[in-house]
Amino acid sequence: MKGTILVVNCGSSSLKIALFDEQLNKLASGLAERLGKKDAFATVKGRAEKIRLANAANHKEALDTLVAVLQDAGLLDEAPAAIGHRVVHGGETFREAALINDDVLAAIKDCASLAPLHNPVNLAGIDATTALFPGIPQVAVFDTAFHQTLPQKAYLYAVPLSLYKEWGVRRYGFHGTSHQFMTREAARILGKTPATTSIISAHLGNGCSITAIRDGNSVDTSMGLTPLEGLVMGTRSGDVDPGLFDFLANKGVAAQEVHRILNNDSGLLGLSGQTNDMRSLCELADHGHEPSHIAIDVFCFRLARYIGAMMTSLDQLDALVFTGGIGENSTLVRKKTLAQLRLFGFTIDDELNNQHGCISDGQIEGADSRFRVLVIPTNEELVIASEALEMAGKPRTNAGSL
Ligand code: AMP
Repeated sequence: MKGTILVVNCGSSSLKIALFDEQLNKLASGLAERLGKKDAFATVKGRAEKIRLANAANHKEALDTLVAVLQDAGLLDEAPAAIGHRVVHGGETFREAALINDDVLAAIKDCASLAPLHNPVNLAGIDATTALFPGIPQVAVFDTAFHQTLPQKAYLYAVPLSLYKEWGVRRYGFHGTSHQFMTREAARILGKTPATTSIISAHLGNGCSITAIRDGNSVDTSMGLTPLEGLVMGTRSGDVDPGLFDFLANKGVAAQEVHRILNNDSGLLGLSGQTNDMRSLCELADHGHEPSHIAIDVFCFRLARYIGAMMTSLDQLDALVFTGGIGENSTLVRKKTLAQLRLFGFTIDDELNNQHGCISDGQIEGADSRFRVLVIPTNEELVIASEALEMAGKPRTNAGSL
């Protein structure tokens, strides 16, 4: 098939690919998991069987396998027209997606100290596609780029300025492609242009972040120097008192161990002692499991508090938008969160909420709500494919809802 766009998203131990045609219709997708482990495997959407990968398979081997499956299926008879890569950290260098060349590769390497678990594997993905498809234009799409419009007062921490100047210690923000997509989708639903649309976008998945977007630009966001700051997440704590490090050091817990606890053992998992999965937590809470009930309560309270905080960056609010696995699917989280915000004038329509906004172009607010509230499925792959198509110099024939 001619003129396809391949999207590659390398995580620390996983790799996702998606293939689009030039009209940005998704043709196929695949996922490799447990990379680097002895039981690494891959799956392709629409096929039940798992594909076993070599012992401790790396990102390149996983990509080779998934691409071979697409080729066998006749979907990649020719090299793709463009390849888009998700790259986690673009530091202050990248305000938008970039066509990959030697300078861009060097700059992504420079940003690796800010995202040591992610940028190196993103580079491994770029190396792998370069080997497979030499000469094909490749585009890096950064999680941080959308937030480069944050004003200084929102991105600076109140620590010695030298930490920012010497080492880049500041708030960067993540999930940029998802928040950007929410802006465009909300604008479409509201009959506005993205440049005149102001929303609060809550991306609630296993990782969670919330962003205030004024006239299409990110002006405040909850994630910071790293994706640990802000909301309660699946296994991440979000905000804690930085004094915790010293407190635990005095108890004999080393800084690296505190870091691990805050990233891997905290959030919904830490509070419930059972699971990081919101759906399972809701079921446990329904059966009277008190710690799961508490975990959901803390999650929704922190979220409501952040929604209130994000209002301070806006002159107007066209809509509060929920997205991500939890935001799109959890009736309970949306209801509890909005109940906490009654003073602001938010109300919810229970029937629309129970339908996840599906019967109303995403709308779930009550008739008397002061603000619109929308549920919008995110589609980060589509944003990456669209950026790749555009940056690679191809005419955009039909960008769908983008
Ligand atoms: P993501 O990282 O965007 O895939 O989101 C994963 C999170 O979404 C997990 O916590 C899931 O439990 C949650 N999720 C998915 N479907 C539902 C659902 N129907 N109700 C509640 N949470 C859900």
